[in-house]
Amino acid sequence: MSKALTSSLLGMDLGEFSVLVSEAGEPAYRAKQIMEAVYRHRVESVAEIATLPQPFRERLEHSGVTLGAARIEKKFVSVDGTVRYLITFADGQSVETVWMPEGDGGEAGDGSEAGETAERLADIPGPGTSGAKAKAEEREPIAALKRCATQNQIRSQDRHSQDRTSSGRSTICISSQVGCAVDCQFCLTALLGVKRNLTAGEIVGQVCAVLKDQRVSPPEDRINLVFMGMGEPFLNYENFVKASRLLVEGVGIAERRMTVSTAGIVPRIYDFGGESIRPKLAISLNASNDALRTRLMPLNKKWNLDMLIAAAREFPLRTREWITFEYVLLGGVNDAPENAREVAELLRGMRCKVNLIALNPGPGIDFTTPSAERVTVFQNILRGAGTPAFVRRPRGRDIYAACGQLKRTVEVATSPEPQMQSISRVQQ
Ligand code: SAH
Repeated sequence: MSKALTSSLLGMDLGEFSVLVSEAGEPAYRAKQIMEAVYRHRVESVAEIATLPQPFRERLEHSGVTLGAARIEKKFVSVDGTVRYLITFADGQSVETVWMPEGDGGEAGDGSEAGETAERLADIPGPGTSGAKAKAEEREPIAALKRCATQNQIRSQDRHSQDRTSSGRSTICISSQVGCAVDCQFCLTALLGVKRNLTAGEIVGQVCAVLKDQRVSPPEDRINLVFMGMGEPFLNYENFVKASRLLVEGVGIAERRMTVSTAGIVPRIYDFGGESIRPKLAISLNASNDALRTRLMPLNKKWNLDMLIAAAREFPLRTREWITFEYVLLGGVNDAPENAREVAELLRGMRCKVNLIALNPGPGIDFTTPSAERVTVFQNILRGAGTPAFVRRPRGRDIYAACGQLKRTVEVATSPEPQMQSISRVQQ
């Protein structure tokens, strides 16, 4: 067995399993068996791959092949049902992964795929789509979705009679890097700097660990996946792309239920448009003009709004796909009516929607959260200009699981944060 392959199975694709199998002199079909065991059954050790003959399993283990499963080190449960996991890898580095269950209303109306995007968008005539047509197109899938959610609940109750949340539209938010290099001024992860990229296996491993812990399994359970945790996926592009493919082909996550969010790595937006399997695209806009964006997101010096918006306009959207723009509202900084009008102008005529996120505050973050009224005014200006806009409700704020709040738990846990003890349950 070659040295290069004597590592972890998690992160390898079918082609790599085929090489492993043929080098071991085993029949070709064993590659598929390994693929199934690693991604579909999510075994945690080579010894658990029951479909392989015992001697082959032993040979694999002796030659240094491991599963490479991610380990859940800590788990924080929010009052709203959100769960924040601290997940540790072989070298001791860790990232955070968030589980947002359905059913508590937290996603409702936020316009994300995890909520009822299709239903909401169908009610709003968007550029290039007549409202009536969108409505007709969307009605059927929504009905099907609701039907299926009910079936899931029934099936879930059968399978696990207790201790299990239903999962009609649960969402997993995953990390792509340990820390982040982009340095957005309002984001807690930025304070860590970037430590390293995650491998494809580590990205997929977060999903496998959470699915296992939550006792859910796609495609039977409808799982949404967002690359919106720690890190910038487009600065770890190859591993992100490989992980996306493994998540679809191996784990069984539906491609249309995955979204990647980028701070705006423009050349990669072009590359991404050409990928055969790809999540949907979200772009963190966060400002309405270059001066403001450069102040909030220094990467705007390299790829400014002209370049970003041009890339978004040229992005090859599939049927019924919309680009999402995220806009973090910072009180008195980027949340004025004039900013909303500028955003509407930037996005005019594009098949897109805007998710508005009122700042989730945190220690070391020098901005304030705008009032609900101010957020509504901003939203209404966008809507009035024909741009669908949704307000994302914060999830898991009490456990630091909300957007932009992910940071190494050890550091958060030692910071003065009384809610951490009183509101959340710390498990494990
Ligand atoms: N690097 C990627 C994905 C991670 S950030 C990106 O920039 O898109 C995911 C989203 O959280 C981004 O839209 C970001 O702007 C937002 N965000 C970051 N910090 C935040 C905070 N403190 N409050 C609210 N949203 C925040």
